[in-house]
Amino acid sequence: MKKKVIDELSKIVGEEFISTRPDVLLTYSQSASLASDPVMPGAVVRPANNEQVSEILKIAGENKIPVTPRSGGSSLQEEVIPEPDGLVIELMRLKEITLYKELRSVTVGAGVTFAELEKYLKEHDLILPVYPESALVCSVAGNVSVNGAGPGSSLYGCIGELVLGVEVVLPDGTIITTGSEANPHASGPYQRYSFGPDITGLFIGSLGSFGIITKVSMKVYKRYKYYDYNTFGFETHEQSEKFMVDIKQHDINGIFTSLYEGPVLELFMDMIGEELGIPQHEWPFSTVSMTIGSVREDLMKSDAELAKKLCVKNGGHVIGISQLPKQEWSGRLWFFVRACYVHGWHWRTLYHHQTPTNAHESIEEIRRVMNKYGFLGHTAGFATGHSSFNAYPHLYFDPQDPEDEQKIRDGHNELAKTLFKTGAVPFKLAEYWSDAIEGMDSYITLLELVKKTIDSQKIMSPRKLAGI
Ligand SMILES: Cc1cc2nc3c(=O)[nH]c(=O)nc-3n(C[C@H](O)[C@H](O)[C@H](O)COP(=O)(O)OP(=O)(O)OC[C@H]3O[C@@H](n4cnc5c(N)ncnc54)[C@H](O)[C@@H]3O)c2cc1C
Repeated sequence: MKKKVIDELSKIVGEEFISTRPDVLLTYSQSASLASDPVMPGAVVRPANNEQVSEILKIAGENKIPVTPRSGGSSLQEEVIPEPDGLVIELMRLKEITLYKELRSVTVGAGVTFAELEKYLKEHDLILPVYPESALVCSVAGNVSVNGAGPGSSLYGCIGELVLGVEVVLPDGTIITTGSEANPHASGPYQRYSFGPDITGLFIGSLGSFGIITKVSMKVYKRYKYYDYNTFGFETHEQSEKFMVDIKQHDINGIFTSLYEGPVLELFMDMIGEELGIPQHEWPFSTVSMTIGSVREDLMKSDAELAKKLCVKNGGHVIGISQLPKQEWSGRLWFFVRACYVHGWHWRTLYHHQTPTNAHESIEEIRRVMNKYGFLGHTAGFATGHSSFNAYPHLYFDPQDPEDEQKIRDGHNELAKTLFKTGAVPFKLAEYWSDAIEGMDSYITLLELVKKTIDSQKIMSPRKLAGI
């Protein structure tokens, strides 16, 4: 990157918050998944506020420098890999938290992680009920930018459902606020759908392609006081699916309802079971692990009783091991991280949403590809919101073996195509979906048009959003 540009950027953020040192750039050349090739940016800049972000974007625009916004860097699907010699804008210095207790909402700066927010809200007996399993490092704004999901999503859906508004710096440096706070006289965030169509939604899941979120306002809830943790065994995934649909039909407050294949649980338990006090068990073919959470004891108890009945009605049996869901929920800031990296850091994932009654098709497809290519891997998933199931296959490879690495990329591409044909939709519209998506030309054209209108220089996260 030209020295003149670096000097201009230094003037905005101060010399200590810009770097072109190769070792620093190397850190920013990758994300938490080492399954894609690193790309060295030209500089990393760390602004302190929205005005600095705005000035930086103006300079990037004038010099046509591609920009990649970055928060925790924990993404797994190439979203945060920068452009060669491009500019990374890291937002972790934006740490402000403002609570609006009466409005049941909170506004956080782009650098606030889920763990930091959880600690803060706990002191107020409140909760942001959806967490990604990378919560220790992942920022709320970063998760909104990918429209993430995780523990809590079984009741509340993806994180986007909890967003009330955003403050965004557009690629030309303009700062806008969406939702009720677009009204400069509003006393806080309380209504997302204000002033016509949902402009907030444009930035949710947009992978930084339309601008940089500097603040995000979220709904918060009273913390649950009463929990029931239980596990349910089934002979087929179809039975598990029917059970999970029944949980929804009966309005049971299942805040996290996961589905595991037997071998996957065995793998997880080999790694962390003993340490977490989860009893050894011959896990059935299909296991549903569920946390019910409530602010009222009577509701929690009646939900728990009904869940057991629905399990039996759908051909299952109550396993009764509570430690697994308890760890999933109470250890939600780190539980899965431990299990995910059981074979090291080298894996590719293909997160997607599926209908709850088709979860078994996703699992079968993933297994078929794993067997065809001889991959080591696993898959699991969880109910997500109103009527969706989030599946997350992890495919491991040997990074020392170029053939293995090529095989994993081929298998991954094949899987994206076949999953799309089963009716699955992307959870995070990563670039590799662009080859798999078909029959949606006018939709993609519209996305391109929006991109062209908002980002005429095409500097923001080029090609990240399904290749646009
Ligand atoms: C062990 C592990 C477990 C995980 N589990 C989950 C999970 O349960 N659920 C889940 O959803 N994800 C999960 N992830 C993936 C990852 O944590 C999420 O994608 C996360 O939301 C990324 O947030 P981040 O702050 O790290 O953002 P980054 O990785 O820095 O960025 C993510 C994307 O958002 C863009 N971006 C970042 N900040 C901004 C901003 N302020 N404005 C505009 N664009 C921005 C980036 O350019 C990039 O495209 C997991 C990752 C790991 C390593």
